[in-house]
Amino acid sequence: MNLIIFGPPGAGKGTQAGLIELNYGLKQLSTGDMLRTEIASESELGLKVKDLIAAGHLVSDDIMVDMIAHRIEQEDCKKGFILDGFPRTVAQAKALDHMLASKGKKIDHVIVLVVDETALMKRIQSRIAQSGENARADDTEDVLKNRLQVYNEQTAPILPYYDLKNLLYKIDGMQPIEVVSSEIDSLLEQR
Ligand code: AMP
Repeated sequence: MNLIIFGPPGAGKGTQAGLIELNYGLKQLSTGDMLRTEIASESELGLKVKDLIAAGHLVSDDIMVDMIAHRIEQEDCKKGFILDGFPRTVAQAKALDHMLASKGKKIDHVIVLVVDETALMKRIQSRIAQSGENARADDTEDVLKNRLQVYNEQTAPILPYYDLKNLLYKIDGMQPIEVVSSEIDSLLEQR
C-alpha cells in the first residue's frame, strides 16, 4: 500500500507518517528530511538547494521526482511507502503518477490533514521556541509565512487532482495526535 500524507507545513504530517511507519511497516519518505540530509553532507545537490530551502521556496520538480523515483526502488519500500512532503506541485503529482505507473505501482490513499492557519502559526511558533539552537533554518516566522503562501498557491491545487481520482481522505488535523492517528487507522484497517 502506498500513501501520501498531505497538509500545510506544521500540520503534523511527519508525526503521523512516523506512526504509520511504526504500525504498518510502510516506509516514511520525507523529502524535506532527504534534502536536509543532502545539505548536512554538503553534497552537490545539498549546496544547490540550501538557499532555496532556507528561504522557504520549492526545489525544482525534476530534482524531486528523480529523488523519489530512486528512493522507492529500495528494499525498505517493498511493503509500501508514505510520501511526506511530496508531491508539492500539480506537475509533481502528475509526474509521480506517470513514474509509478511505469513501475506497476500506484497511490492508494491521500490522507489530508485539515488545519486552521492561525492555529498553525501558533503551533510552529512554539516549535521554533522549543527547538532553540537546533531550529531548522526555515523555521522562522517570515519563512513560515512564505511556506504557507507557497502551500496555498502551489501545493493545495493538487487536491482537486486527487479528488477526481477519489483518493482523498480528509481528517481534522487540529485534533490530538492520538485521535488523528486512530482516524488514520480506521481508514487503513478497512482494507
Ligand atoms: P518540509 O520538511 O517537507 O517542510 O520541507 C522543507 C523544504 O524542503 C520545503 O520548504 C522546500 O523548500 C523543500 N521541499 C521539500 N519537499 C519538496 C518538494 N516535494 N518539492 C519542492 N521542494 C520541496
